Amino acid sequence: MGLAAQAARSAGEETATAESGPWRITLDLPSYMPFMQHSQRRDLREKLYRVYISRASSGELNNKPLIERILELRQEQAKLLGYGSYAEISLAAKMAPSVEAVEKLLEELRQSSYDAAVNDLEALREFAVSKGETEELQHWDIPFWAERLREEKFDFNAEALRPYFPLEQVLSGLFDLSKRIFGVVITSADGEAPVWHPEVRYFQVADESGQPIAHFYLDPYSRPAEKRGGAWMNECISRAQVAGSSQLRLPVAYLVCNQTPPVDGKPSLMTFGEVETLFHEFGHGLQHMLTKVNYGKASGIRNVEWDAVELPSQFMENWCYHRPTLLSLGKHYETGEPLPEHYYQKLLAARTYMSGSVMLRQIHLSWVDLELHHRYQPGGSETAEDVRRRLAEQTMVLPPLPEDSFLCAFGHIFAGGYAAGYYSYKWAEVLSADAFAAFEEAGLEDEHTLAEVGHRFRETVLALGGSQHPMQVFRSFRGREPNTTALLRHNGLAA
Ligand SMILES: [Zn+2]
Repeated sequence: MGLAAQAARSAGEETATAESGPWRITLDLPSYMPFMQHSQRRDLREKLYRVYISRASSGELNNKPLIERILELRQEQAKLLGYGSYAEISLAAKMAPSVEAVEKLLEELRQSSYDAAVNDLEALREFAVSKGETEELQHWDIPFWAERLREEKFDFNAEALRPYFPLEQVLSGLFDLSKRIFGVVITSADGEAPVWHPEVRYFQVADESGQPIAHFYLDPYSRPAEKRGGAWMNECISRAQVAGSSQLRLPVAYLVCNQTPPVDGKPSLMTFGEVETLFHEFGHGLQHMLTKVNYGKASGIRNVEWDAVELPSQFMENWCYHRPTLLSLGKHYETGEPLPEHYYQKLLAARTYMSGSVMLRQIHLSWVDLELHHRYQPGGSETAEDVRRRLAEQTMVLPPLPEDSFLCAFGHIFAGGYAAGYYSYKWAEVLSADAFAAFEEAGLEDEHTLAEVGHRFRETVLALGGSQHPMQVFRSFRGREPNTTALLRHNGLAA
C-alpha cells in the first residue's frame, strides 16, 4: 500500500498515504502482483486481471502483427542458414540434442504435474469455500486464495527468520560446506585488492595444501541509489595460461547481492530467500573459480551452453534444505540458538507448495515457445494465439479467457534472448536436481562419501567449463545421461 500511495503521489496525488490512499495500481509486476495477492476487492482484481492479460494487444501498440513478422523472419533466417526451423538454430548451440528430446522431457514433466495442478486448484476451491467464498474460482481469485492458504499452512513470514541468518554465520557455513564437499579453503583477503565500495569484501580460494587457485569479491548489501536490484555473478578475470610462458593467470569472480545492510549495531540479517540467492550466485562463482581449463575462451563459465549454465548455481541451492548444512548456517545472532526444527519443517513444506501448478506454467510457456519456432507457419490459418490455446488444453487447468493475449507481452521470446530457449529453465533444473541426487544416493550424512562425490563434481562440472560438450561433462560426473526423477521427487511430484 505504501508503494501504491507513492505511485499515486508521483502521479500528482500529493496527499496520498499508505493508510488512506488514494492508491495507484499499475501493470508493472511489483504493483500488479501484490494487488492480486492481497486485495479483498474481487471486482477490482477481475478488472485488473482483464487489463493485464490484454497488454499490447490492440490499437497503436498492438504486438500481434509484430509477432507474426518476427516469426516469419526467423523462419526465413533458418532457411537461409540451412536449418529446418528457427528452433533448430537455437538448439545447435545448446546442450539439448533436438526439439524432440526437449519435447520428450517437457511431456514427462507435464504428465507428472498436470494432475497435481488440478489438485492444487481443487484445494484452493475447498479452502475458499471454507472461508465463505460463494463464487466459482476464476483466474483473478487464484493468487489471492493461494496467498491466504499459504499463510494458513505455513504461518510464518520471511522476516521472522532473519535473526537466525546473520551474514557472517551464513558465510562461515557456506565456506565450511565448500571445504567438506569440494576440498577448497576460503579465507578473507580484505585489503589485498582494491574495492569499489568500503562494504565490498575480498576472499581467497585455496586448495587443501594452501595453494591459491582463485579470488572473489562479495558486494552483499543493497544500495538503492547506485546499484540495481537482484543478484548476479560475473567474472573479473578468467583463468588462462599466458601465451608463450608457463605462467598461469588465476580467475577472479564477483558476487553481487542486495540484502539488508547492518543497521543499528545489528549485523546484516538475511531472509531465507537471500541465503538461497547467495548460494545460487556462489555456485556460478565456483564454476568460474574452480575451472581447470587453461584456455581463456573456454575456462570457467565461458562457452558453457545456455541450457546448462544454471547447473552449478541451482545445485548449490539444494544445500539450503540439507538439515546439517542449514543448521550450520542458521544460528540466532544474539543467543547462538540453532534454527528451531519447526521452522526447518516449514521451509521444507513451503518448498513444494503448489509445485505442480508452478511447473505446469513453465511447461506451458516452454511448449508454446518451441511450437511457434518449430512447426508454426506464419500467415497460415492458425494464428500464434491459436497455437497457444491449442496447447493450453493440455497445459492449463483453467483455460485462458477469450481476450487473453499473453503472447503480446511474452518479452522473453520476442524481445529477449529466449526464443526457442525458454525450456532452458526446466532443462537446467533437471540437471541440477539430478546432480544433487548423486549426493543423496551416496548418503548425505556420510562425510566420506560426500567428499568423494564432491570431488567428482569438482573435477567434472566445475573444472571442465566450456571445454567439452555439457552432455559429456554430465556423463563424466553421473555415469549416465540426466533424467527427471530427482526433480519430480524434490518437487513432491514423484508418482
Ligand atoms: Zn543463475
